[in-house]
Amino acid sequence: MKNFFSLTMPQLKDYLAELGKEKFRAQQLFRWVYVQGETEIENMTNLSKKFREELPNYLTFELPKVVEQLDSVDGTRKLLFDVGDNMTVETVLIPSEDRLTICLSSEVGCNMACRFCYTGKQKLKKRLSTEQIVGQYVQAAKTLEGEDRRITNIVFMGMGEPLDNCDAVFNSIEIITADYGFNLSRKRVTVSTSGIVPEMHRVWEAKVRLAVSLNAAYDEIRNVVMPVNRRWPLEVLLETCKEFCAQTKDSITFEYVLLKDVTDSLEDARKLPKLLKGIPCKVNLIPFNEHPGSEYKRPNRQRVLTFQKVLMEAGMQTLIRRTMGRDIYAACGQLTSKFEGRPEMMDMKKPSNDLHI
Ligand code: SAH
Ligand code: SF4
Repeated sequence: MKNFFSLTMPQLKDYLAELGKEKFRAQQLFRWVYVQGETEIENMTNLSKKFREELPNYLTFELPKVVEQLDSVDGTRKLLFDVGDNMTVETVLIPSEDRLTICLSSEVGCNMACRFCYTGKQKLKKRLSTEQIVGQYVQAAKTLEGEDRRITNIVFMGMGEPLDNCDAVFNSIEIITADYGFNLSRKRVTVSTSGIVPEMHRVWEAKVRLAVSLNAAYDEIRNVVMPVNRRWPLEVLLETCKEFCAQTKDSITFEYVLLKDVTDSLEDARKLPKLLKGIPCKVNLIPFNEHPGSEYKRPNRQRVLTFQKVLMEAGMQTLIRRTMGRDIYAACGQLTSKFEGRPEMMDMKKPSNDLHI
């Protein structure tokens, strides 16, 4: 038995062939599910009755269940999914002017153990399967039925490190971007990594966009806040970034979390343009989102603006990431698994710290 949402068209064709079925059934099924949005076998009327009757014996259309939906006043929507074994992951829909971006999770917990990250506080508990990743997209799209908006972009910036779960992540990208699937352009898909260098080639091979969580301008600091840096330090990471640009002719987004008195100094800001020289890129500044037990603080607004100014004066393209979905705990690094307790203690109502730029 296989799950339909775990299969690309070629994989489904092979599977049907193994079962002695006609391969063109694969096209029909993909059309029903991804184009028509139909997952009830009964309703797939152009399939022969016999095939419809047999189908449940070798294919399920089961999707991860939405156990909670939270809508923010700013249009952000957070979905909580049951992924089995008493575990949950979160998916966030983030609206902006002309986009609706879905932020997908790839794992429960994360072994990268970044010190500022809520997900990183718990070790890896589960790598999601292809159907659980595709399923987040399918289910989120379903919640939009009847609304005047649709998903335009995907970012792998939810829970987990996507390059620690490459097979499922890239298989799901294959399915979602395929013209027989949702037909979403690969240029609208971004994989964000903490810097697992040996797997980064997968990003350019898949022809999707790359985001790198840089978060520090010096190895000494990055070693502390992102232990992955001890394995693949900045020089190696940035060489690989150059390789990405050479291979794809695309630019990179560097994410830079501003941690008060740790990564937000003028010295850090002045170092970044030198460090990133020769790499076509933009830098997204993310003021740290505090969570219970976090040892770091969020810098004040002035400090963030000053940091950005230094980058801009050096000719860098840079944005300050707005904090969306505050009222539903949907911000970066705050996503959580229901069964490890919720970040109720977070102080979400600190307007002086809120950046709406
Ligand atoms: N594992 C991948 C993708 C998920 S994390 C990665 O690290 O890139 C997505 C982004 O959220 C990363 O850039 C990370 O640095 C940032 N992040 C994590 N915790 C955060 C927090 N508490 N406040 C602000 N940003 C955070
Ligand atoms: Fe994992 Fe990304 Fe969090 Fe680091 S920031 S612990 S890589 S999810």
